[in-house]
Amino acid sequence: MIERIRAIFRSLLLLELLKGMALTGRHLFRRKITVQYPEQKTPMSPRFRGLHALRRYPSGEERCIGCKLCEAVCPALAITIETAERADGTRRTTRYDIDYNKCIFCGFCEEACPVDAIVETRIFEYHGEKRGDLYYTKDMLLAVGDTYEEQIAKDRAADAAYR
Ligand code: SF4
Ligand code: SF4
Repeated sequence: MIERIRAIFRSLLLLELLKGMALTGRHLFRRKITVQYPEQKTPMSPRFRGLHALRRYPSGEERCIGCKLCEAVCPALAITIETAERADGTRRTTRYDIDYNKCIFCGFCEEACPVDAIVETRIFEYHGEKRGDLYYTKDMLLAVGDTYEEQIAKDRAADAAYR
């Protein structure tokens, strides 16, 4: 009963409104922290989980050995891999797709990879205008890796230093 009377008084005296206005007042003259994106950007962690890339060794050889650990660990079933044996007896993927309509950017795939082949990059500025645009094939993922390898290698080294 007493609690109810208190609530009525709080309501009549507009206490919640006054509290809200006091909070607004406290922030009114503080330094503004708005970032003028895209001209300005905030610092980014080397562990940022953005668009994936498939990496190559400096020789140009694909790192991925088609073990399918990333496919098995993916909780969203976003990765599809097919493999075949090459003439030299090694195994490589013939298909490596990531469906970004499903991916939740958890990073499990890169954690699972034994050869550092699939990694997540700092790239977050991508979009699709139709569902198929967010279906990335092996060639597309390799192209991301080829374009951003320098940054990826730096980020992997920084990440290793954290551990
Ligand atoms: S980041 Fe997570 S959800 Fe996305 S492909 Fe990798 S394991 Fe799957
Ligand atoms: S990306 Fe890594 S974990 Fe996935 S199939 Fe290739 S080697 Fe295996």
